[in-house]
Amino acid sequence: MVMVGHPVVEGVGGIRGFVNAYVFQDESGCYLIDATFSKTAKPIRMAFERAGVPIDTVGQLLLTHQHMDHVRGASELHRRATGAKISCHPADAPYIDGRIRAQVPFLLRPFVRVPPVPIDRTIGGGDTVGPLRVVHVPGHTAGELAFYHPARKLLFSGDAVCESKGRLVLPAPRAASDLAQAVASLRVLRELEVETLLPGHGLPVTRDVAGRIDELIARAPREYLGA
Ligand SMILES: [Zn+2]
Ligand SMILES: [Zn+2]
Repeated sequence: MVMVGHPVVEGVGGIRGFVNAYVFQDESGCYLIDATFSKTAKPIRMAFERAGVPIDTVGQLLLTHQHMDHVRGASELHRRATGAKISCHPADAPYIDGRIRAQVPFLLRPFVRVPPVPIDRTIGGGDTVGPLRVVHVPGHTAGELAFYHPARKLLFSGDAVCESKGRLVLPAPRAASDLAQAVASLRVLRELEVETLLPGHGLPVTRDVAGRIDELIARAPREYLGA
């Protein structure tokens, strides 16, 4: 199969920007994790175009959470990747499908529109989508999800944990719906055996993921909770 995006490990391509999307492919199909901030999903469309893979190859679009930088391109993908089933957690679904207005920072409201997109399936911890296990890691948002591939030890972590300058971090604390819960959710991720961490922001981590999560767990209460 042809790799779409920047090759990370076998079957995983990264579409990189200030927010990342990922394309995971195996014999069961093509999975797109997150939709980018681009209203036209341009980085994703370009990655498929460059690879010569039609975008309607995507069978599943998995949204890690409702924030606009991850979902704004979803509506355009819905239009173009016509076979793709769109999934997210029920707690975040109303913000994505338009029942509740998308959360856009006040200053950006006059400029940024987040087109709503219908959700085909709501998913939660323990569900599976093909070979990927859904992991509910609330805190950054109530419906924050990570996607774990047990056989391949891949973790698409969304914004539950991100990378910055070689360290694991939580994204901007003010963006979190419940920061203490976000810190607690790190332990859920720590229980997974992970060789390749694919974060929503920052670079993939392929070495000593467990040690780095431990290191974050150790400093998080002080760094994020003032404890
Ligand atoms: Zn976020
Ligand atoms: Zn984000």
